[in-house]
Amino acid sequence: MRRSGLRADRRSPIVQAMMASLRDTGVWIFDLDNTLYPASCNLFAQVDRRIGDFIAGHFGITYDEARVMQKRFFREHGTTLRGLMVEHDVDPVPFLDYVHDIDVSPVAPCPSMAGALNRLPGRKIIYTNGSVRHAENVTRQLGIDGCFEATFGIVEAGYVPKPDPRPYDILVDHYDIDPARACMVEDIARNLVPAHALGMTTVWVRSEADWARPDEGGVGTGSHIDHTVDDLPAWLEEIAG
Ligand SMILES: [Mg+2]
Repeated sequence: MRRSGLRADRRSPIVQAMMASLRDTGVWIFDLDNTLYPASCNLFAQVDRRIGDFIAGHFGITYDEARVMQKRFFREHGTTLRGLMVEHDVDPVPFLDYVHDIDVSPVAPCPSMAGALNRLPGRKIIYTNGSVRHAENVTRQLGIDGCFEATFGIVEAGYVPKPDPRPYDILVDHYDIDPARACMVEDIARNLVPAHALGMTTVWVRSEADWARPDEGGVGTGSHIDHTVDDLPAWLEEIAG
């Protein structure tokens, strides 16, 4: 008998019904950074540092001055790249190449995630504000490359980042997704707002970062969040059975 089957017997009927409903998800849409790997491995700190270095080099300013710009761009445009493109006409290609040229070895291979994804019914797509190459590097390191139908990255989104609702529409159209049977998984709560508005089920991978919590940016108290998860591989294993 499966381990999860034993556990399921002890779960309330409500929880069992919820898990059964999630098992019926047609398309899973996963964010990449700090979602498919834990924020605790600090991989994104490298990207964050290189974004600051890129800005400092591009404008000939100090790193501290660059950090101020970087934070404002993130706040006002969703991503630093969007701010650089809109306000300064920066070419996105060298930017993405530079900031994603990182050492992914801090990410530990995650066999439990690979097992859960392989058993989880439904299509699986990565939706990231980063590049496809970055997603390939990270998923290879995790040992979950090959678990996804596609990666919808910032280039595919026309360089318009989450949480702007427009790329969500492109995603849904391009991959013929029925939002009512789709489930989006993210660590930045505000990025779930457009998914919820489309009718998707939303899963927040809990983060302690100010900018990722649901009360940041005036998005309310989290009513757009259907499920809050601390350990994504374990949670997916529960659903996959
Ligand atoms: Mg993320």
